[in-house]
Amino acid sequence: MSTSLKQALKSHFGFDGFRSKLQEDVVNVVVRGQRDVFVCMPTGAGKSLCYQLPAVLAEGITLVISPLIALIQDQVDHLKELNIAACSINSKLPVGERRLILADLRSKRPKLKLLYITPEMVASPSFHPCLTDLCSRGLLSYLAVDEAHCVSQWGHDFRPDYLKLGELRARIPGVPCLALTATAPKNVQEDIVQSLKLQCPMSFVTPVFRSNLHYDVIFRDLLPNPYAHLHAFIKKALAMDSGAAGQGCGIVYCRTRDGCETVAYQLNKLGVVAKAYHAGMKAVDRTEAQNEWMQGKVLVIVATISFGMGVDKANVRFVAHWNLAKSLAGFYQESGRAGRDGLPSLCRTYYSRKDKDQLNFLIRQEVTRRQEKRGSFKETDKAALTDLEAMVLFCEHEGCRHANISKFFGDKTPKCAGACDFCLNPKVVRAQLEQAAALSTK
Ligand code: ADP
Ligand code: MG
Ligand code: ZN
Repeated sequence: MSTSLKQALKSHFGFDGFRSKLQEDVVNVVVRGQRDVFVCMPTGAGKSLCYQLPAVLAEGITLVISPLIALIQDQVDHLKELNIAACSINSKLPVGERRLILADLRSKRPKLKLLYITPEMVASPSFHPCLTDLCSRGLLSYLAVDEAHCVSQWGHDFRPDYLKLGELRARIPGVPCLALTATAPKNVQEDIVQSLKLQCPMSFVTPVFRSNLHYDVIFRDLLPNPYAHLHAFIKKALAMDSGAAGQGCGIVYCRTRDGCETVAYQLNKLGVVAKAYHAGMKAVDRTEAQNEWMQGKVLVIVATISFGMGVDKANVRFVAHWNLAKSLAGFYQESGRAGRDGLPSLCRTYYSRKDKDQLNFLIRQEVTRRQEKRGSFKETDKAALTDLEAMVLFCEHEGCRHANISKFFGDKTPKCAGACDFCLNPKVVRAQLEQAAALSTK
């Protein structure tokens, strides 16, 4: 079984082996085709292959739901390069091409293996007969829902059209569903299972805990010189004093464009080659900053959270949050860009209660604006504030940081063994909290 899968992996995708045991396990279960499957693995882990390989090996067609035409286009292009019959039906498709695809789908033995569509397309009635027809002829092998967290109103990329996927499932009974996502806190996982009507799904979830990441929190308002503190941290993280070459690189996340510019400037002044990266820069400058960082010419990129999507760099030795992240889920994803190579790496947050109040204010303002526009209150309006609360609690909590994150994602308590400031020395964390309390009553 497994050897034939490996052969198929090689012949169709050119890979010598599975990325991970988890990827292999998922594929093994999916090809059996009997169960709904839930996959939560980090970005870059190779989730697409979990349905692409089974799709290639199956008799019929795999329907893939993905939220963005751009994402779909990348995947379809890539599959076509591999000579795998894949295409996408979307609102931008010329009528002629669309007609060709539909003709193939109606034919006795369709050539197509993977059909990508956006959830809007699922909702379009013109597409219903085609699906029903395929299903009744037993030609739908799997339904794969990529970026499945978009179904949850607690998630950050909620797409109302994803909610219609439940109806879609009812229309194609017996077709196993595979839901994939990179980030899913417990409540989002529950939403996915419920909305997509997953039947006792087999869950494959990368453990949240990563023992090579050291988490700590520094109260920024207590520092006499924050930039010097950041500089010292970077020097340590990149082992700059040891004179070793190729010591890796790092990311500093800031909330604002000004913040990025200021921190980058200060770091350069202190002798660290750093560059800013944010949406206010010209596209060429931004690309240049990213490329130089990828090549190791720039050691530190000082960026807003727009940086990092799809960036897969192995030797990121540290991720520092100069400003508080808006949510713990976002924070976990951003800080998780450190240590992809498995080597020890540092994840630091420079926490500030002033910063927290500001962020709280901004979020409330945004929620009010949305409510006024809509004229009503929705339960999910609270989501953004609950997200922030979880992040604040992470910083203010006197306990293991890893345990805090794992609990948030519904995972079991990990064996931190000194991989966070609290487990390393609880007294330091306590002292910092006491100092902060004293400061705020002054
Ligand atoms: P995800 O959706 O989990 O973020 P992707 O499916 O986009 O990840 O895959 C990330 C990268 O890993 C892609 O370039 C893909 O070709 C590659 N990849 C996936 N599986 C394997 C494998 N078994 N061996 C080598 N590379 C792989
Ligand atoms: Mg993906
Ligand atoms: Zn700990």
